[in-house]
Amino acid sequence: MSISENLSDIQNIINQRCADADRSPESAHLIAVSKTKPQEDVVLAIEAGQKTFGENRVQEAEGKFPDLKAKHVDLEVHLIGPLQTNKAKDAVALFDVIHTVDREKLIKSLASAMESVGRNPKCLIQVNTGAEPQKAGVSPEDLSALLKAAKDAGLPIYGLMCIPPADQLPAPHFAFLKKLAYDHKVIGPNESEPWISMGMSGDYADAVELGATHVRVGSAIFGGRPTQ
Ligand SMILES: *Cc1c(COP(=O)(O)O)cnc(C)c1O
Repeated sequence: MSISENLSDIQNIINQRCADADRSPESAHLIAVSKTKPQEDVVLAIEAGQKTFGENRVQEAEGKFPDLKAKHVDLEVHLIGPLQTNKAKDAVALFDVIHTVDREKLIKSLASAMESVGRNPKCLIQVNTGAEPQKAGVSPEDLSALLKAAKDAGLPIYGLMCIPPADQLPAPHFAFLKKLAYDHKVIGPNESEPWISMGMSGDYADAVELGATHVRVGSAIFGGRPTQ
């Protein structure tokens, strides 16, 4: 199957699940995760009409996207991997959405980077819904304090993101993430519903049904990646 066929199949499934859940299809955005894949694959996806991409490393995205963004003004690149504070400025300069804000130090670095660079990428807080010690993301108990820190720093937080534990059913984590966003009164851009970033190749359809506004799909579009 080609990248273009994969994209249209996935988009059809997303639209169907939106219909099942009584949502408009525009309320669920497909992020094509192109990490480890060459720029040629991104170009094929763009030619198929895809405009939103996800990368997990700043440097890799810098190698793939600046010239494409210059050519296609409506292209959006989302950072979905962990961000080091020393890369905050580079991230702010390139990305349109940052899904992985998870600590106060990073909030401060991003806020000052936005001021010096003069760009304001939309930000989401990554929540470690499974409380896995090795995993990035703020614990659910500390979410409230982190949201307040972001507000104090003037950092726009429009939603939440999670990566459920690999060995558990994702659905309860998806439901929990959505509940957290509404319980904490997170508000999306222009007073919209909060953004909920959840669901990957194996579970994006369920994520849409459970309220995802952004699904992050890589291998189902671009094919498998070598295991790291
Ligand atoms: C790689 C990655 C994805 C996409 O994973 P697939 O299983 O290939 O769809 C989604 N989210 C994050 C945070 C990732 O790092």
